Amino acid sequence: MTTPPDVLDAADPLAPFRDRFVIDDDLVAYLDGNSLGRLPRATLDRLASFVREEWGGRLIRGWEESWVDLPVTVGDELGAALLGAAAGQTVVADSTSVCIYKLLHAAAGLRPDRDEIVIDATNFPTDRYLAESVAAARGMTVRWLDPDLVENVTTDVLAQALGERTAVVLLSHVDYRSGTLLDLPALTDAVHAAGAVVIWDLCHSAGVVPIALDAVGVDFAVGCTYKYVNAGPGAPAFVYVAERHLADARQPIAGWWSAADLFAMGEVYAESATISRMLSGTPPVAGVLAVQEGVRLVAEAGVAAIRTKSEALTAYAIDLLDAASLEIVTPRDPALRGGHVTVRHPDARGITDRLVERGVVPDFREPDLIRLGLSPLTTSYAELAAATRILAEVAAPIG
Ligand SMILES: *Cc1c(COP(=O)(O)O)cnc(C)c1O
Repeated sequence: MTTPPDVLDAADPLAPFRDRFVIDDDLVAYLDGNSLGRLPRATLDRLASFVREEWGGRLIRGWEESWVDLPVTVGDELGAALLGAAAGQTVVADSTSVCIYKLLHAAAGLRPDRDEIVIDATNFPTDRYLAESVAAARGMTVRWLDPDLVENVTTDVLAQALGERTAVVLLSHVDYRSGTLLDLPALTDAVHAAGAVVIWDLCHSAGVVPIALDAVGVDFAVGCTYKYVNAGPGAPAFVYVAERHLADARQPIAGWWSAADLFAMGEVYAESATISRMLSGTPPVAGVLAVQEGVRLVAEAGVAAIRTKSEALTAYAIDLLDAASLEIVTPRDPALRGGHVTVRHPDARGITDRLVERGVVPDFREPDLIRLGLSPLTTSYAELAAATRILAEVAAPIG
C-alpha cells in the first residue's frame, strides 16, 4: 500500500512554498514544471514595479542606477545558490542555445590542436544541432556517443570516444527524455584525463539537483532558467566559465557588452577580463529580474531540501505507475535520476490528449514518451496522485 497523498503533503516541509506561486488555473495537475515552471508571486510584483516605476519612471537613467550590472550580479546569485560557483564565473544572458554556441567555440579554442567534439545522440536537439554547426564552422568532426536511453552516458560509454583528438565534450546533466542523472564528477574527471574540456548543460538539473561546479573542477556550464528556476517563458539562460579559463575563453559574438569598457565606445575591441566577456548585447532586463526572483525562491528553500522532496516525489510517482502496470524508462535508483519520471507507451500521443482533456498537463515527447515533471516547490503529492489515477484510467485498454 502506498501512503495516502494528504499524509505526505502534511509532512512536507516545502509544502508552504506552493502558496508563493500564482496557482489560479483550473487544472487537476500541472506536471510540466520541468518545461515551464509556474509563476512566482514575487515575480508578478517585481515585474509590475519594474515596468511602472523603473522603466516608466527612470527611463534611460535606469541603466546606470541598477540595470547595467544585473547580468553579473544575478549570475553570481544563481551561481552561489544553484551551481556551487564562486562569484565572477556566472552570467545571465541570451538563450541556452546561443550560450551553447558561445561555449562550444570558447571550449574548442582552448584545444586548437584537437579536432573532435563529443556529444551523445540522445542529447537535446539544440545541443546536437549546435555541436554540428560549430564543428562545421571550425573544421572539426562530431563524434557521436550512442548510449542506451535509460543508462545513458556512463564513463564506459564515454571512454570509447575519448582520445587525443577530443577537444570538447558536451553532455546534459539530466537526460531530457528518460530523466537519467549523469555522474557529473566522474565524467568530468574522465574528460580531463583525456586532456579535453567539458561543457555541462544543466537545463534539467539547475534548481532541482545539487551541483558543485567549482569543487568538481568543471570547465564550462550552461542552463536555462524557465524550467526549475521558474523565471518564465523565454527568460535568459546562464553561462559558467571556470575562473582558470576566463583569460583564454573567447566567444564569437563579441559585442559592446563583452568589451572591457562598455561605455568607452572604443575604436577597437578589447575583451573584458571578467565573465562579462560572455555577454554580447543589451540584456533583457525584465527577464533577468525574473531570474533573480526565481533564484531567490530556490535559495530560500535550499537545493538540498528541494532534492530530498524531488527524490520522494519521483519515488512516489514510480510506485503509483508500477501499481498501474505502466512502463517506466527512468532509473529506479533515486541517485540516478533527476526531477521527472517518464512513461513509455505506444499510444503516448493519444493518452496525452486524454490527460489534457481531464485537466492533467503532462509533457509528450515523440514518439512514445510521456514525461511527468515534478517540480518540488509547486507539485503536491495530492496533485501527483490524482494525475496518476487519471493516467491509469486513460491508458487502460478499451474493451
Ligand atoms: C530546455 C533545454 C534547452 C533549451 O534551449 P533554449 O535555447 O532555451 O530553447 C537546451 N538544452 C537542453 C538539454 C534542454 O533541456
